[in-house]
Amino acid sequence: MSMMMMMCLCAIGLLSFCLEHVMALASLPSPISGEGWPEKFPAKEHCSRCGLCETTFVSRVKEACAFLGDGMGRVDDAEMKVHGRQRDTASMAWSENKDRGEDLSTADEARFGVMHEPMRLAKGIGMRDAQWTGVVTSIALSMLEAGKVDAVVCIANSSEESNKSNPQAWSYPQPILAKTPEDVLRGRGVKPALSPSLNVLDEIKNDKSIRKLLFCGVGCAVQAFRAVQDDLGLEEVYVLGTNCVDNSPTPEAAQNFLQEGVQISELERVRGYEFMQDFKVHVKTSDGYITRPYFSLPGTVAAPSIATSCLACFDYTNGLADVVVGYMGAPLDGKMDESYQTLTIRNERGSQMVETAKDANRLYIGDVATGTGNHEQLATSTVAADSIVLEMVGGDVPTSGMPVWMGNILAFVISNYVSPKGVNFARYSIDYHILRNYLHILQEWGEDRAQQAMPQYAADIVSHYLQDETVRKLQSQLQITKQEKELKR
Ligand SMILES: Cc1cc2nc3c(=O)[nH]c(=O)nc-3n(C[C@H](O)[C@H](O)[C@H](O)COP(=O)(O)OP(=O)(O)OC[C@H]3O[C@@H](n4cnc5c(N)ncnc54)[C@H](O)[C@@H]3O)c2cc1C
Ligand code: SF4
Ligand code: SF4
Repeated sequence: MSMMMMMCLCAIGLLSFCLEHVMALASLPSPISGEGWPEKFPAKEHCSRCGLCETTFVSRVKEACAFLGDGMGRVDDAEMKVHGRQRDTASMAWSENKDRGEDLSTADEARFGVMHEPMRLAKGIGMRDAQWTGVVTSIALSMLEAGKVDAVVCIANSSEESNKSNPQAWSYPQPILAKTPEDVLRGRGVKPALSPSLNVLDEIKNDKSIRKLLFCGVGCAVQAFRAVQDDLGLEEVYVLGTNCVDNSPTPEAAQNFLQEGVQISELERVRGYEFMQDFKVHVKTSDGYITRPYFSLPGTVAAPSIATSCLACFDYTNGLADVVVGYMGAPLDGKMDESYQTLTIRNERGSQMVETAKDANRLYIGDVATGTGNHEQLATSTVAADSIVLEMVGGDVPTSGMPVWMGNILAFVISNYVSPKGVNFARYSIDYHILRNYLHILQEWGEDRAQQAMPQYAADIVSHYLQDETVRKLQSQLQITKQEKELKR
């Protein structure tokens, strides 16, 4: 073969090699830019911006997204895959069953999800500047320091240049792949807005130094993560979840809530906030706490402060995480950074994570979480008075709240004499949010898809409350309002 011919053959070979690669690259799914949120994202206004679509894993969106197709209805099957069994939906606790001798004082699996052992109270040890006592960061840090994982996905504050002079930088979520204890500590504190937690998926897949991973996330992000975790090529995966409800769509919406709703004039002093069991918003500032009763917030502030995705969410207690941390089922003793949190261990991996933190003397485990009181009556009356529900059923949404002194008296009376406590308070909060969200998806998607998009336990809760006349009235009022709106179009 002549030299010329050989060179020609080599050139043809090289060309076809390049073409193959160009075609392979062209067929790679294109990540969607966050700037196009929510319109350009497959779940549109119901997108919780979990981050999956901002990576090449966007190709898996149909099976992973918590808001497309069967959405959160997929949690039932996923529980079997992750925990080896589904939650015991027959264990659902109702106050009326107390008369039949059932013990309703501890967390039921049906509502709180699969449990390896009963839900416990817990505190982080020596973890400063966390949201509460830092149970989450204590576990994550212990896992990294013990060499059980190579990296931790957690949500730090945004460190973008444009944000550095912004006193509200604390509230801008930025997912990071933390490989050092210092980086894990950057995750401390809740940033009160949707966070694209999964936008680090490609980084994880391409980083050969990561064989063992700990993923921290809220329910919608964990659901999407579980759908794709096997494609990351990892040897070990641990998932540490938090409870989550009513997140703000953006940090700016959260700031607006603090200014217009809570009437905070000096935003630069704020370090975090939480909706507490005493029916008050507690705002953590650089020099203490500011509280405001829920009843003194204008009703109109609710809709812009809550992301639409969170009105279609049925995984408050993060059913697919190995361990879940929250506060709503714990007694509120004084300040956030001194009060107990709750710890739900769902499986053997979760148990290992907790043991690792205990061995490192970073975690104190208290008693089994308990509660008292009827949760159903308050759930029904809260949903009937909820301003988002009022808007759905064509009612008047109050533009101003009660005077603060009056709101404080009402919060005192309700939390001391009416509201259930501990685990039963958590049941109240879960049921109220499920009912409100059912009404939202009924309005948005209709009854068939609503039933499809709810896990079994949520459908069971809805059907129980539909025996109540107040809830039935809301449901039919919503249908009438929906028809009237459609006729006007
Ligand atoms: C948006 C949101 C709403 C919540 N609502 C409730 C509720 O209604 N009831 C309840 O019982 N518990 C709720 N929680 C959980 C609770 O606020 C605490 O996160 C939990 O008790 C852990 O506290 P900690 O001190 O152990 O956390 P820390 O040790 O301070 O760690 C904070 C953790 O939160 C993660 N995080 C921070 N911001 C975000 C974000 N925007 N999205 C996802 N993860 C984030 C960090 O990665 C870190 O892992 C919510 C959490 C979030 C993120
Ligand atoms: S919620 Fe996540 S998976 Fe669903 S559309 Fe939004 S970014 Fe994509
Ligand atoms: S409330 Fe649900 S949808 Fe909203 S951020 Fe939390 S887990 Fe996601």
